[in-house]
Amino acid sequence: MPEGASPQETKGQPGIRQAALFGLCPQQCGEKTLFASGIQFASRCRVCGLDYSRFNVGDGPAGFLTLIIGAVMVALAIWLDVAASPPFWVHALLWVPLTIAAVVGGLRVSKAALLAAEYRNRAGEAVSTSSDDEDSDA
Ligand SMILES: [Zn+2]
Repeated sequence: MPEGASPQETKGQPGIRQAALFGLCPQQCGEKTLFASGIQFASRCRVCGLDYSRFNVGDGPAGFLTLIIGAVMVALAIWLDVAASPPFWVHALLWVPLTIAAVVGGLRVSKAALLAAEYRNRAGEAVSTSSDDEDSDA
């Protein structure tokens, strides 16, 4: 083992950053097949057939992201109020859609990033296929 960080050949695969930003399949095909709709993963890649349901990303990113975005939005709202003191409806009109967009966009990116990272590292349940005859010689 040369480095231990990347045991698999990574040629042809999209980078984790690209896969996260555009919802790309982490396998060689690199097509935009990761999301079925909104923030819902597709069950498998429509092009190469990679089974996305093997990867368990979980709800880890959701809580973390919501807290961060909430803090950022409150800071921005306070700043706007101090700087320009707009009427209240401006805040309602501005921050509600902006927060939703930030949460949905952030969730897509973070979930895709986690899945791509899991694919790279073959983490968790992803290795539990019985037909695999390669075993971990750690
Ligand atoms: Zn694919």
